[in-house]
Amino acid sequence: MKICLICLEVKNKIKFSRNRCKKDGLQDECRDCRIILLRKYRQTEKDKIKKYKKEYRLKNPQKCRARKATEKAVKLGKIKRGNCVICNMYPTQAHHSDYSKPLKVTWLCKACHADLHFQERCYI
Ligand SMILES: [Zn+2]
Ligand SMILES: [Zn+2]
Ligand SMILES: [Zn+2]
Repeated sequence: MKICLICLEVKNKIKFSRNRCKKDGLQDECRDCRIILLRKYRQTEKDKIKKYKKEYRLKNPQKCRARKATEKAVKLGKIKRGNCVICNMYPTQAHHSDYSKPLKVTWLCKACHADLHFQERCYI
């Protein structure tokens, strides 16, 4: 038998998940409490991501507007999605060197796009 540190009930050991880091090889909380804890954790994570996205939008309104304008222009056929200018791969993402010119885009595949921004970050 083992006591759950969350609900403080003494329960059979099979009611506890395994955890090799713990002395007795079992979690401190019973399976029932663990499910609730994980659910709560996921919820706070979700809120965090939502908050982050909102902050990003507020901090980079031009970026978001440019991206939306590009998507719209592609849908309307105003601009054509091209192959990656670096490796010629497809599909591609729109990269803006100047966010005030949303229709002036460079097409880059996901990998090259990530590379480019990674380099940018390193140079700053
Ligand atoms: Zn419990
Ligand atoms: Zn590429
Ligand atoms: Zn970009």
